[in-house]
Amino acid sequence: MSGSVRVIARVRPLLKGEIEKDVIVEAAGDSADGKTIVRIPNPKKESESFSFQFNSVYPSGASQQTIFDNEVAPTVKHLFKGFDVTLFAYGVTGTGKTHTMRGGKSLQERGVIPRLLSNIYRKARKLEKDGETQVEVTMSYYEIYNDRVYDLFEPPEQRTPAGLPIRDNNGKTVVVGLTERPCTTLKDFELSYEQANAHRSTSATKLNAHSSRSHAILRVKVAQTTGDETRISTASAIDLAGSEDNRRTDNNKDRLVESASINKSLFVLAQCVEAISKKQARIPYRESKMTRILSLGQNNGYTVMILNLAPVRSYHLDTLSSLNFANRTKKIEVNEIENQPFFREQAGKGKGDGTVPKSYNAPSMHRQP
Ligand code: ADP
Ligand code: MG
Repeated sequence: MSGSVRVIARVRPLLKGEIEKDVIVEAAGDSADGKTIVRIPNPKKESESFSFQFNSVYPSGASQQTIFDNEVAPTVKHLFKGFDVTLFAYGVTGTGKTHTMRGGKSLQERGVIPRLLSNIYRKARKLEKDGETQVEVTMSYYEIYNDRVYDLFEPPEQRTPAGLPIRDNNGKTVVVGLTERPCTTLKDFELSYEQANAHRSTSATKLNAHSSRSHAILRVKVAQTTGDETRISTASAIDLAGSEDNRRTDNNKDRLVESASINKSLFVLAQCVEAISKKQARIPYRESKMTRILSLGQNNGYTVMILNLAPVRSYHLDTLSSLNFANRTKKIEVNEIENQPFFREQAGKGKGDGTVPKSYNAPSMHRQP
Protein backbone atom coordinates (compact mmCIF):
# COMPACT_ATOMS: atom_id res chain seq x y z
CA MET A 1 0.00 0.00 0.00
CA SER A 2 1.26 3.41 -0.90
CA GLY A 3 -0.45 5.74 1.56
CA SER A 4 -1.71 9.18 0.75
CA VAL A 5 -0.30 12.44 -0.50
CA ARG A 6 -1.35 16.07 -0.39
CA VAL A 7 0.17 18.69 -2.62
CA ILE A 8 -0.35 22.23 -1.43
CA ALA A 9 0.96 25.57 -2.67
CA ARG A 10 2.09 28.51 -0.57
CA VAL A 11 2.70 31.94 -2.07
CA ARG A 12 5.17 34.02 -0.09
CA PRO A 13 4.66 37.74 0.58
CA LEU A 14 6.52 40.46 -1.29
CA LEU A 15 10.03 41.05 -0.02
CA LYS A 16 11.90 44.35 0.22
CA GLY A 17 12.47 45.66 -3.27
CA GLU A 18 9.57 43.74 -4.80
CA ILE A 19 6.51 45.75 -5.74
CA GLU A 20 2.80 45.07 -6.00
CA LYS A 21 2.79 45.94 -9.70
CA ASP A 22 4.99 42.90 -10.45
CA VAL A 23 2.72 40.37 -8.78
CA ILE A 24 1.66 37.74 -11.32
CA VAL A 25 0.73 34.78 -9.12
CA GLU A 26 -2.80 34.65 -7.86
CA ALA A 27 -4.33 32.30 -5.30
CA ALA A 28 -7.89 31.83 -6.46
CA GLY A 29 -10.87 29.53 -6.49
CA ASP A 30 -12.83 29.73 -3.28
CA SER A 31 -13.98 26.54 -1.69
CA ALA A 32 -15.25 25.94 1.81
CA ASP A 33 -11.83 25.13 3.18
CA GLY A 34 -9.85 27.79 1.36
CA LYS A 35 -8.43 28.55 -2.04
CA THR A 36 -7.29 25.71 -4.25
CA ILE A 37 -6.15 27.29 -7.51
CA VAL A 38 -2.96 29.07 -8.50
CA ARG A 39 -3.28 31.26 -11.57
CA ILE A 40 -0.36 32.62 -13.56
CA PRO A 41 -0.12 34.33 -16.97
CA ASN A 42 1.10 32.41 -19.97
CA PRO A 43 4.56 33.94 -20.53
CA LYS A 44 4.14 33.53 -24.29
CA LYS A 45 0.73 35.14 -24.40
CA GLU A 46 -0.21 37.43 -21.51
CA SER A 47 -3.90 37.44 -22.37
CA GLU A 48 -4.02 33.81 -21.36
CA SER A 49 -3.41 32.32 -18.00
CA PHE A 50 -2.74 28.88 -16.66
CA SER A 51 -4.48 27.61 -13.60
CA PHE A 52 -3.32 24.75 -11.45
CA GLN A 53 -5.40 22.95 -8.90
CA PHE A 54 -3.98 21.79 -5.56
CA ASN A 55 -5.34 20.21 -2.42
CA SER A 56 -4.94 23.60 -0.82
CA VAL A 57 -3.47 26.97 -1.74
CA TYR A 58 -2.21 29.46 0.82
CA PRO A 59 -2.02 33.10 -0.24
CA SER A 60 0.79 35.35 0.97
CA GLY A 61 -1.03 36.32 4.15
CA ALA A 62 -1.14 32.77 5.53
CA SER A 63 0.69 32.43 8.83
CA GLN A 64 3.14 29.76 9.92
CA GLN A 65 0.56 28.61 12.42
CA THR A 66 -2.13 28.21 9.74
CA ILE A 67 0.14 26.08 7.56
CA PHE A 68 1.06 23.92 10.51
CA ASP A 69 -2.46 23.58 11.92
CA ASN A 70 -4.04 22.71 8.58
CA GLU A 71 -1.40 20.57 6.94
CA VAL A 72 0.97 19.09 9.50
CA ALA A 73 -0.78 18.82 12.86
CA PRO A 74 -3.29 16.27 11.47
CA THR A 75 -0.41 13.93 10.55
CA VAL A 76 0.84 13.60 14.14
CA LYS A 77 -1.90 11.17 15.09
CA HIS A 78 -0.92 8.95 12.14
CA LEU A 79 2.69 9.08 13.27
CA PHE A 80 1.73 7.79 16.71
CA LYS A 81 -0.35 5.05 15.10
CA GLY A 82 2.85 3.81 13.50
CA PHE A 83 2.71 5.41 10.05
CA ASP A 84 5.54 7.39 8.52
CA VAL A 85 5.02 11.06 7.77
CA THR A 86 7.02 12.88 5.08
CA LEU A 87 6.97 16.62 4.43
CA PHE A 88 8.69 18.21 1.45
CA ALA A 89 9.29 21.86 0.65
CA TYR A 90 9.71 22.22 -3.10
CA GLY A 91 10.45 25.41 -5.02
CA VAL A 92 12.87 27.87 -6.56
CA THR A 93 15.58 29.35 -4.33
CA GLY A 94 14.14 32.40 -2.56
CA THR A 95 10.52 31.23 -2.48
CA GLY A 96 10.29 30.33 1.22
CA LYS A 97 11.23 26.64 1.59
CA THR A 98 13.53 27.20 4.56
CA HIS A 99 11.11 29.73 6.00
CA THR A 100 8.31 27.17 5.80
CA MET A 101 10.35 24.30 7.24
CA ARG A 102 12.60 25.97 9.77
CA GLY A 103 11.19 29.47 9.98
CA GLY A 104 12.32 32.45 12.02
CA LYS A 105 13.45 32.76 15.61
CA SER A 106 10.29 34.13 17.21
CA LEU A 107 7.50 31.86 18.43
CA GLN A 108 5.19 33.25 15.78
CA GLU A 109 7.64 32.75 12.92
CA ARG A 110 8.69 29.23 13.86
CA GLY A 111 8.38 26.89 10.91
CA VAL A 112 6.76 23.52 10.50
CA ILE A 113 9.69 21.52 11.95
CA PRO A 114 9.93 23.06 15.46
CA ARG A 115 6.14 23.05 15.67
CA LEU A 116 5.99 19.40 14.69
CA LEU A 117 8.55 18.46 17.32
CA SER A 118 6.73 20.48 19.93
CA ASN A 119 3.55 18.51 19.11
CA ILE A 120 5.40 15.20 19.19
CA TYR A 121 6.81 15.86 22.66
CA ARG A 122 3.47 17.05 23.96
CA LYS A 123 1.78 13.88 22.71
CA ALA A 124 4.62 11.73 24.10
CA ARG A 125 4.33 13.28 27.58
CA LYS A 126 0.59 12.71 27.51
CA LEU A 127 0.99 9.03 26.55
CA GLU A 128 3.59 8.52 29.25
CA LYS A 129 1.37 10.14 31.85
CA ASP A 130 -1.70 8.15 30.81
CA GLY A 131 -0.25 4.65 30.74
CA GLU A 132 2.68 2.31 30.42
CA THR A 133 3.93 3.61 27.11
CA GLN A 134 7.44 5.07 26.95
CA VAL A 135 8.30 7.29 24.02
CA GLU A 136 11.83 7.80 22.74
CA VAL A 137 12.70 10.37 20.12
CA THR A 138 15.92 10.26 18.09
CA MET A 139 16.93 12.46 15.21
CA SER A 140 19.26 12.29 12.26
CA TYR A 141 19.93 15.15 9.93
CA TYR A 142 21.80 14.91 6.68
CA GLU A 143 22.05 16.42 3.27
CA ILE A 144 22.22 14.93 -0.17
CA TYR A 145 24.50 16.88 -2.44
CA ASN A 146 25.46 15.60 -5.90
CA ASP A 147 23.91 12.30 -4.95
CA ARG A 148 26.18 11.95 -1.91
CA VAL A 149 25.01 11.76 1.67
CA TYR A 150 26.65 13.97 4.32
CA ASP A 151 25.88 13.89 8.02
CA LEU A 152 24.96 17.39 9.18
CA PHE A 153 26.15 16.57 12.69
CA GLU A 154 29.62 16.40 11.26
CA PRO A 155 31.43 19.70 10.72
CA PRO A 156 31.98 20.22 6.96
CA GLU A 157 35.79 20.12 7.30
CA GLN A 158 35.60 16.61 8.81
CA ARG A 159 33.49 15.09 6.07
CA THR A 160 34.78 12.43 3.74
CA PRO A 161 34.26 13.86 0.27
CA ALA A 162 32.72 10.61 -0.99
CA GLY A 163 29.96 10.87 1.62
CA LEU A 164 28.35 8.08 3.61
CA PRO A 165 27.56 4.75 1.95
CA ILE A 166 24.02 3.49 1.75
CA ARG A 167 23.11 -0.15 2.03
CA ASP A 168 20.11 -2.41 1.80
CA ASN A 169 19.09 -3.93 5.06
CA ASN A 170 16.19 -6.38 4.77
CA GLY A 171 14.55 -4.34 2.07
CA LYS A 172 15.12 -1.06 3.91
CA THR A 173 17.75 1.39 2.75
CA VAL A 174 20.02 2.64 5.50
CA VAL A 175 22.76 5.26 5.55
CA VAL A 176 25.79 3.63 7.12
CA GLY A 177 27.43 5.61 9.91
CA LEU A 178 24.79 8.30 10.22
CA THR A 179 24.56 9.93 13.65
CA GLU A 180 21.31 9.15 15.46
CA ARG A 181 20.93 11.50 18.33
CA PRO A 182 18.51 10.83 21.18
CA CYS A 183 16.54 13.97 22.05
CA THR A 184 14.66 13.58 25.31
CA THR A 185 13.13 17.04 25.36
CA LEU A 186 12.21 19.77 22.92
CA LYS A 187 15.18 21.75 24.22
CA ASP A 188 17.52 18.82 23.36
CA PHE A 189 16.09 18.69 19.90
CA GLU A 190 16.40 22.43 19.32
CA LEU A 191 20.05 22.47 20.39
CA SER A 192 20.96 19.60 18.05
CA TYR A 193 18.92 21.03 15.22
CA GLU A 194 20.54 24.46 15.48
CA GLN A 195 24.00 22.94 15.68
CA ALA A 196 23.42 20.91 12.51
CA ASN A 197 21.89 23.90 10.73
CA ALA A 198 25.03 25.88 11.51
CA HIS A 199 27.01 23.20 9.66
CA ARG A 200 24.75 23.60 6.70
CA SER A 201 25.23 27.34 6.49
CA THR A 202 29.00 27.08 7.05
CA SER A 203 29.31 24.98 3.97
CA ALA A 204 27.03 27.40 2.14
CA THR A 205 29.59 30.21 2.32
CA LYS A 206 32.44 27.90 1.39
CA LEU A 207 30.82 26.12 -1.48
CA ASN A 208 29.03 28.89 -3.27
CA ALA A 209 25.46 28.73 -1.99
CA HIS A 210 25.80 25.00 -1.62
CA SER A 211 22.72 24.92 0.61
CA SER A 212 20.38 25.80 -2.25
CA ARG A 213 21.76 22.86 -4.23
CA SER A 214 21.44 20.18 -1.60
CA HIS A 215 18.45 18.43 -0.08
CA ALA A 216 18.42 18.74 3.72
CA ILE A 217 16.68 15.79 5.30
CA LEU A 218 15.65 15.72 8.92
CA ARG A 219 14.40 12.39 10.21
CA VAL A 220 12.78 12.04 13.57
CA LYS A 221 12.27 8.54 14.80
CA VAL A 222 9.53 7.97 17.34
CA ALA A 223 9.77 4.69 19.28
CA GLN A 224 6.81 3.84 21.50
CA THR A 225 7.39 1.00 23.91
CA THR A 226 4.56 -0.68 25.77
CA GLY A 227 5.61 -3.76 27.71
CA ASP A 228 7.95 -5.68 25.43
CA GLU A 229 6.50 -4.27 22.24
CA THR A 230 8.06 -1.34 20.43
CA ARG A 231 6.41 0.52 17.58
CA ILE A 232 8.66 2.69 15.44
CA SER A 233 7.63 5.37 13.00
CA THR A 234 9.47 8.21 11.32
CA ALA A 235 8.67 11.82 10.54
CA SER A 236 10.83 13.23 7.76
CA ALA A 237 11.04 16.89 6.80
CA ILE A 238 12.92 17.76 3.65
CA ASP A 239 14.06 21.18 2.52
CA LEU A 240 14.72 20.37 -1.12
CA ALA A 241 17.37 21.82 -3.40
CA GLY A 242 16.22 24.85 -5.39
CA SER A 243 14.25 23.74 -8.41
CA GLU A 244 15.43 26.57 -10.69
CA ASP A 245 17.25 25.62 -13.83
CA ASN A 246 20.83 26.38 -12.81
CA ARG A 247 22.05 25.87 -16.33
CA ARG A 248 20.28 28.97 -17.47
CA THR A 249 22.29 31.28 -15.26
CA ASP A 250 25.69 29.63 -15.09
CA ASN A 251 26.95 26.77 -17.16
CA ASN A 252 30.27 25.84 -15.64
CA LYS A 253 31.02 22.17 -15.29
CA ASP A 254 30.43 21.78 -11.54
CA ARG A 255 27.06 23.44 -11.92
CA LEU A 256 26.09 21.05 -14.68
CA VAL A 257 26.87 18.07 -12.47
CA GLU A 258 24.81 19.63 -9.67
CA SER A 259 21.93 20.39 -12.02
CA ALA A 260 21.88 16.89 -13.38
CA SER A 261 21.66 15.28 -9.96
CA ILE A 262 19.14 17.83 -8.65
CA ASN A 263 16.95 17.43 -11.71
CA LYS A 264 17.09 13.66 -11.55
CA SER A 265 16.12 13.43 -7.89
CA LEU A 266 13.36 16.04 -8.21
CA PHE A 267 12.05 14.24 -11.28
CA VAL A 268 11.91 10.90 -9.47
CA LEU A 269 10.31 12.61 -6.48
CA ALA A 270 7.59 14.02 -8.75
CA GLN A 271 6.97 10.58 -10.20
CA CYS A 272 6.71 9.05 -6.74
CA VAL A 273 4.30 11.73 -5.55
CA GLU A 274 2.17 11.21 -8.64
CA ALA A 275 2.22 7.43 -8.30
CA ILE A 276 1.22 7.64 -4.64
CA SER A 277 -1.57 10.11 -5.34
CA LYS A 278 -2.92 7.87 -8.08
CA LYS A 279 -2.63 4.81 -5.85
CA GLN A 280 -0.46 3.08 -8.40
CA ALA A 281 1.06 -0.24 -7.49
CA ARG A 282 4.56 0.69 -8.59
CA ILE A 283 6.27 3.64 -6.88
CA PRO A 284 9.64 4.31 -8.55
CA TYR A 285 11.25 5.19 -5.23
CA ARG A 286 14.40 3.18 -5.89
CA GLU A 287 15.41 5.43 -8.77
CA SER A 288 16.97 8.23 -6.74
CA LYS A 289 19.00 8.17 -3.56
CA MET A 290 16.67 10.50 -1.73
CA THR A 291 13.42 8.67 -2.46
CA ARG A 292 15.18 5.39 -1.80
CA ILE A 293 16.49 6.37 1.63
CA LEU A 294 13.04 7.70 2.47
CA SER A 295 11.40 4.56 1.03
CA LEU A 296 8.91 7.05 -0.27
CA GLY A 297 5.48 5.53 -0.63
CA GLN A 298 6.49 2.15 0.77
CA ASN A 299 5.18 2.32 4.31
CA ASN A 300 1.60 3.32 3.78
CA GLY A 301 2.56 6.72 5.14
CA TYR A 302 1.40 10.29 4.74
CA THR A 303 3.19 12.66 2.41
CA VAL A 304 2.67 16.40 2.20
CA MET A 305 4.43 18.36 -0.50
CA ILE A 306 4.48 22.10 -0.03
CA LEU A 307 5.15 23.97 -3.24
CA ASN A 308 6.66 27.34 -2.34
CA LEU A 309 6.06 30.14 -4.82
CA ALA A 310 7.29 33.71 -5.19
CA PRO A 311 4.53 36.04 -6.34
CA VAL A 312 6.53 38.22 -8.74
CA ARG A 313 7.34 38.36 -12.41
CA SER A 314 11.11 37.92 -12.04
CA TYR A 315 10.41 34.25 -11.19
CA HIS A 316 7.90 33.75 -14.00
CA LEU A 317 9.43 30.85 -15.94
CA ASP A 318 10.77 29.04 -12.90
CA THR A 319 7.41 29.42 -11.14
CA LEU A 320 5.65 27.95 -14.14
CA SER A 321 8.02 25.01 -14.27
CA SER A 322 7.52 24.43 -10.51
CA LEU A 323 3.78 24.43 -11.03
CA ASN A 324 4.11 22.06 -13.96
CA PHE A 325 6.22 19.79 -11.84
CA ALA A 326 3.81 19.69 -8.95
CA ASN A 327 0.65 19.40 -11.00
CA ARG A 328 0.65 18.13 -14.53
CA THR A 329 -3.05 18.63 -14.95
CA LYS A 330 -3.57 22.27 -15.62
CA LYS A 331 -6.04 24.39 -17.44
CA ILE A 332 -5.53 27.27 -19.78
CA GLU A 333 -7.93 30.18 -19.52
CA VAL A 334 -8.52 33.22 -21.64
CA ASN A 335 -8.49 36.37 -19.54
CA GLU A 336 -11.22 38.92 -19.66
CA ILE A 337 -9.59 42.21 -20.51
CA GLU A 338 -11.20 45.19 -18.77
CA ASN A 339 -12.03 48.41 -20.68
CA GLN A 340 -11.48 46.79 -24.02
CA PRO A 341 -13.77 47.98 -26.82
CA PHE A 342 -15.81 45.18 -28.30
CA PHE A 343 -15.18 44.50 -31.99
CA ARG A 344 -17.74 42.09 -33.31
CA GLU A 345 -15.75 41.18 -36.43
CA GLN A 346 -12.68 40.14 -34.43
CA ALA A 347 -14.59 38.03 -32.00
CA GLY A 348 -16.37 36.37 -34.88
CA LYS A 349 -13.15 35.42 -36.65
CA GLY A 350 -11.93 33.56 -33.64
CA LYS A 351 -8.33 34.56 -34.06
CA GLY A 352 -6.20 37.60 -33.52
CA ASP A 353 -3.60 38.66 -31.00
CA GLY A 354 -5.22 36.86 -28.14
CA THR A 355 -6.94 39.82 -26.49
CA VAL A 356 -10.55 38.97 -25.95
CA PRO A 357 -13.38 41.44 -25.39
CA LYS A 358 -15.11 41.26 -22.03
CA SER A 359 -18.44 40.11 -23.35
CA TYR A 360 -16.94 37.31 -25.40
CA ASN A 361 -17.48 34.12 -23.51
CA ALA A 362 -14.50 31.98 -24.43
CA PRO A 363 -14.78 28.27 -23.89
CA SER A 364 -12.07 27.06 -21.56
CA MET A 365 -9.67 24.58 -23.04
CA HIS A 366 -7.59 21.83 -21.65
CA ARG A 367 -4.20 21.45 -23.17
CA GLN A 368 -0.53 21.14 -22.48
CA PRO A 369 1.41 24.20 -23.65
P1 ADP B 1 14.33 29.28 0.08
O1 ADP B 1 14.70 28.44 1.27
O2 ADP B 1 13.23 28.70 -0.74
O3 ADP B 1 15.51 29.68 -0.75
P2 ADP B 1 13.77 31.29 2.08
O4 ADP B 1 12.98 30.50 3.04
O5 ADP B 1 15.20 31.55 2.44
O6 ADP B 1 13.72 30.67 0.62
O7 ADP B 1 12.98 32.65 1.81
C1 ADP B 1 13.52 33.73 1.07
C2 ADP B 1 13.24 35.03 1.83
O8 ADP B 1 11.84 35.23 1.91
C3 ADP B 1 13.74 34.99 3.26
O9 ADP B 1 14.21 36.28 3.59
C4 ADP B 1 12.50 34.66 4.06
O10 ADP B 1 12.56 35.15 5.37
C5 ADP B 1 11.40 35.34 3.26
N1 ADP B 1 10.11 34.64 3.35
C6 ADP B 1 9.78 33.50 2.72
N2 ADP B 1 8.51 33.13 3.01
C7 ADP B 1 8.03 34.05 3.86
C8 ADP B 1 6.77 34.24 4.53
N3 ADP B 1 5.75 33.36 4.39
N4 ADP B 1 6.63 35.31 5.32
C9 ADP B 1 7.64 36.20 5.47
N5 ADP B 1 8.84 36.08 4.88
C10 ADP B 1 9.05 35.02 4.07
MG1 MG C 1 16.58 27.64 1.75
